[in-house]
Amino acid sequence: MRVTTSVEASPLAPDWLSVPEDPSRLEAKLWAEDVERDDDGVLRVDGVSVTELAQQYGTPLFVVSERDFRARARIFRDAFDDAFRDLCDGVDVFYAGKSFLCTEVAHWVREEGLGLDTCSGGELAVALRAGLPGHRLGLHGNNKSAAELTRAIDAGLGRIVVDSLQEVAVVGDLAVQRGRIANVMLRLTPGVHAHTHEFIATAHEDQKFGLSLAARPGMEGNAAALPGERAVADALAHPGINLLGVHCHIGSQIFEPEGFELAARRLLAFLARVRDTHGVELPELDLGGGYGIAYTEADEPRPAAEIARAMAAVVGSTCRELGLRVPRISIEPGRAIVGPTTFTLYTAGTTKTVQVDAPGAKDAPVTHPRRYVSVDGGMSDNARPVLYGADYSAVLASRTPGATPVLSRVVGKHCESGDIVVRDAYLPEDTGAGDLLAVPGTGAYCWVLASNYNYVARPPVVAVTDGIARLIVRGETEEDLFRRDVQREPAEPGDPRP
Ligand SMILES: *Cc1c(COP(=O)(O)O)cnc(C)c1O
Repeated sequence: MRVTTSVEASPLAPDWLSVPEDPSRLEAKLWAEDVERDDDGVLRVDGVSVTELAQQYGTPLFVVSERDFRARARIFRDAFDDAFRDLCDGVDVFYAGKSFLCTEVAHWVREEGLGLDTCSGGELAVALRAGLPGHRLGLHGNNKSAAELTRAIDAGLGRIVVDSLQEVAVVGDLAVQRGRIANVMLRLTPGVHAHTHEFIATAHEDQKFGLSLAARPGMEGNAAALPGERAVADALAHPGINLLGVHCHIGSQIFEPEGFELAARRLLAFLARVRDTHGVELPELDLGGGYGIAYTEADEPRPAAEIARAMAAVVGSTCRELGLRVPRISIEPGRAIVGPTTFTLYTAGTTKTVQVDAPGAKDAPVTHPRRYVSVDGGMSDNARPVLYGADYSAVLASRTPGATPVLSRVVGKHCESGDIVVRDAYLPEDTGAGDLLAVPGTGAYCWVLASNYNYVARPPVVAVTDGIARLIVRGETEEDLFRRDVQREPAEPGDPRP
């Protein structure tokens, strides 16, 4: 048996991961604009050092750059507005609140002039709490409760995205009961599923969301019986519904525009059929979210402006072919606005190195080292590696990374061997107890998916702007956990319980 301790790329590392030439360099695409390493090697966000942040707020800690969030919100708003200005007088951008939402962030969204998409009564409550007017809000969901719909109708929501045939009647009837008219879009499933570099296009749909555009065998030639077509007819006929248009959302972490383009074509063709059948040109088309970001050096997302131009070209040409007036376009980016604005700060604890068999070297075993670095959080503050096998990156954040980079795996503190934070990263071999590690790109779908697994308290969120850090979500305490965990009344004197 031979043991390698080489500084060369480890055979255990995935192909896309390279040994950093300069371990102190930050890969710009992974980080908020105002994160940098100072002369002592300490990461700073808009001038505030992570060592100060860790001291004041503890770790794990979500650190969000407010300036970067606002900038990314404006980039989406302006890029799509510019690309679609001549076609439909611009675009409405609805930030997808499910990616990350708290009252302060809802204020940022309001102040930057975006709308906000919610998918539950709770998210809607946060948006209203931040003073977002109803007309700038949307509500999604495949199984909204009557209470959620009533709240949405009473708040005068800009759009309730109706997901099923049953819901057309429920929303319409509720609106009539409340003496109102509900603004409705219909969620259609265009048969396009996109993820990163691939998309698949099918005629049929096998998922819980939305109204199908596809015919079941035997239904061909009977368009009026298709769910999408029937929903339009029902919605147009209902006195409680103002039918604005149609909606689709084809996936997430998408880098290439082709999937969006095909979905747009299929939905515009549907709008043309609605015009031909009902004599109505529905005024709006929502193309959903899903714009990808960089989690590792391997990810190369396109600038928003590039995707916007590609989509505008397809929408424009398809509408010309169909003789359709271009509907007002809206989009729902979540991850691409908030993801890169945030990193998670952890404190390292125990470490160990194991020797792992080289891949495919069964006969003449050669082993290679893999270093495990444990941090003080894990799957309770970032479930994505466990849920989706998602890859992240990590850097030593509290000092200059001087020692040799070694292939490392950053793991959490939970009682679960799959509790991985960063599957593969080169970290200095002396990384150890007390060092701060930063994992970038944790703004989206991390804090919102946080859990109390192992009775671990969920971390706080700190926003940094103009050189000042402030808490925007308080971290949980043991009292918070016990608040819901019902304790028995104190025993009476003479109570026989042991
Ligand atoms: C999740 C979701 C989004 C946001 O997706 P991102 O990948 O975060 O951009 C937008 N619209 C709908 C309907 C969604 O379900």
